[in-house]
Amino acid sequence: PAPAAVVLEATALARSFGGVAAVRDVSLAVRAGEVVAIIGPNGAGKSTCFAMLGGQLRPDRGEVRLLGRDITGAGPEAVFRAGVGHTFQVTASFASMTLRENVQLALLSHRGRLWRLTRALTRHDPRPAEALLDQVGLLDQADRAAAVLAYGDLKRLELALALANDPKLLLMDEPTAGMAPPERAALMAEVRALASRRGLAVLFTEHDLDTVFRVSDRILVLDRGAVIAAGTPNAIRADARVRAVYLGT
Ligand code: ADP
Ligand code: MG
Repeated sequence: PAPAAVVLEATALARSFGGVAAVRDVSLAVRAGEVVAIIGPNGAGKSTCFAMLGGQLRPDRGEVRLLGRDITGAGPEAVFRAGVGHTFQVTASFASMTLRENVQLALLSHRGRLWRLTRALTRHDPRPAEALLDQVGLLDQADRAAAVLAYGDLKRLELALALANDPKLLLMDEPTAGMAPPERAALMAEVRALASRRGLAVLFTEHDLDTVFRVSDRILVLDRGAVIAAGTPNAIRADARVRAVYLGT
């Protein structure tokens, strides 16, 4: 079969803060249905890469393309509308919002008439929402309040919220932070299944290497702002330079 479409293509990304080169030269591509991990020691430049790909941070050099379209430095709103979803770094579900955010939401919804939104909700067809909840394994809890969810299930809810925008690419910077290893593996296994089923491109980073090796199609290893190795989990496991720099063996 023909290879799946390239969803994300970043070329020669670079970004410095003051005199410090956080990212020197990063190129990567993610195809539809592919799950790609970026790993590397603390300070390697992973979050800086995610911020440039997500439009929050303008690169000094280089280019970001989504489905062939140049979105370099387009800003987070435009990048979101172009089909890039985020999860987990910024908590997105209503129950986890602060009081300020709750009131801000009311102000945003047509000058305080939040009741209109609530009424529209009760008349809205529940099936699309239920289909999304089913995809993240939460359908059996559909009638519970988000506030009472277990931490791992709250992450699943955030995943469903991200999917509601029908993203072509999901960026996940440490999505499982704060979760126990078995929960991490379970959540990422679900993301893996979603990617395959929906043809969703996924780029993520994660500290637990067992999880990374298990769910990734390809892995990029970053060290001091540059890609020092890229390949399949088996290739990365066997790479002498990766073992020296990252795994410490
Ligand atoms: P990682 O996510 O791999 O741990 P980061 O991308 O967060 O790495 O950081 C890479 C380097 O850039 C680090 O040296 C970090 O201190 C620096 N850095 C990141 N963001 C900023 C910023 N906003 N201002 C100054 N330095 C930053
Ligand atoms: Mg980081």
